[in-house]
Amino acid sequence: MAGDNDSKYRPATQLVTGGRSGDFARDVVNPPVWRASTHLYDNCAELRARKAANRDGQFFYGRRGAPTQWALSEALTALEPGAAGTVLYPSGLAALVGALLTVLRSGDVLLVADNAYDPTRNTATGLLAGFGIEHRFFDPLDLDAYEAAFCDRTRAVMLEVPGSLTMEVCDIPALARIARAKGAVSLVDNTWATSLGFPALKHGCDIAITALTKHVGGHSDVMMGSASAGDHWYRRLRLGAQQLGHVVSPDDAALVLRGLRTMGVRLEKQSATALAVAEWLAGRDEVAHVLAPMLPGTPGHALWQRDFAGGCGLFSFVLKGGDDAARCRLVDALALFGIGYSWGGFESLALPFDVEPVRDTMPWPKAGWGVEDRHAIRLSIGLEDQDDLIADLANGFAALTEG
Ligand SMILES: *Cc1c(COP(=O)(O)O)cnc(C)c1O
Repeated sequence: MAGDNDSKYRPATQLVTGGRSGDFARDVVNPPVWRASTHLYDNCAELRARKAANRDGQFFYGRRGAPTQWALSEALTALEPGAAGTVLYPSGLAALVGALLTVLRSGDVLLVADNAYDPTRNTATGLLAGFGIEHRFFDPLDLDAYEAAFCDRTRAVMLEVPGSLTMEVCDIPALARIARAKGAVSLVDNTWATSLGFPALKHGCDIAITALTKHVGGHSDVMMGSASAGDHWYRRLRLGAQQLGHVVSPDDAALVLRGLRTMGVRLEKQSATALAVAEWLAGRDEVAHVLAPMLPGTPGHALWQRDFAGGCGLFSFVLKGGDDAARCRLVDALALFGIGYSWGGFESLALPFDVEPVRDTMPWPKAGWGVEDRHAIRLSIGLEDQDDLIADLANGFAALTEG
């Protein structure tokens, strides 16, 4: 079922048609939730043939999936131009780690963008280091320093765009081109834009990873991750995931598939609301910086316009001054924004964060910022009414001065 990427339709249509070509979904709109550990064979010859095939669409044993998971993989592959297939993992982090363990061997060096998702950094400094895989953090906005960071043993680069929390937009085509010229594999965490907003393989990356937990699931009720790639890496990722024992449940696959169908309209609406909220924040005296690639005038906006076909509801802002207690009063005063990790759901969230503990090479505060401008808040904008969200934030700002 997971054949070559078929770009017969535009992305909005692919969201509807993807993963519905298999025999198993012929008489129903959605593939059934196919719970199965054991598959049965007619005879010994068939059992042997299935084992050797090792393909989506071929029953073998539950760990290799069943129609519900295959339909989701097929739909994700259809959305990723240049992909030969998609491997599913039980979380976004499992997808990142599964892909890294597929690519890297002991003695290799991994370059990690300094603004990568914090748990990705922890995997590099922890698990991978324990396997004798070295890492170097690099500033993804500094192409010269990046190029200089390669050595003979550099096997892979781990990219992310925009950067987690701080939202810098790096030049992925340039970073991936340099990696390829140096003989290194480029992996990108594409959770923010998804393949709808950023066709990562077309931009030169080898492996595109998405935390499906966020926009694709979209309803804050399921965790999953995916890695899509061209034929060479897809085959290896698939074997790697099998050897790690990864499998996702059919119930979860059905939830993610349901989320996928409406992802396009959710992202459009959330992007529009996020832009309005970001503009409103940029006009507030208490705000030092709005870190939102979609907002004209912000660093990264030009690259975002050049490389991205869409955005989402996730961005950050930095308060003037260094008063952590005031920041917490603002966040605590919000009624519509939940306080919590994760993002990309239908409901808005706010998260206070500090950058120093999760950066090695990137200067923070940045050049031109006040040294006290260090307390930031990340917002995940949901599907609520824009005016209600802005009114809620206005209440939060009123609480800033109530110390
Ligand atoms: C949340 C997140 C992940 C991990 O996804 P989980 O499903 O929570 O493991 C990976 N990358 C980014 C950028 C994320 O925000």
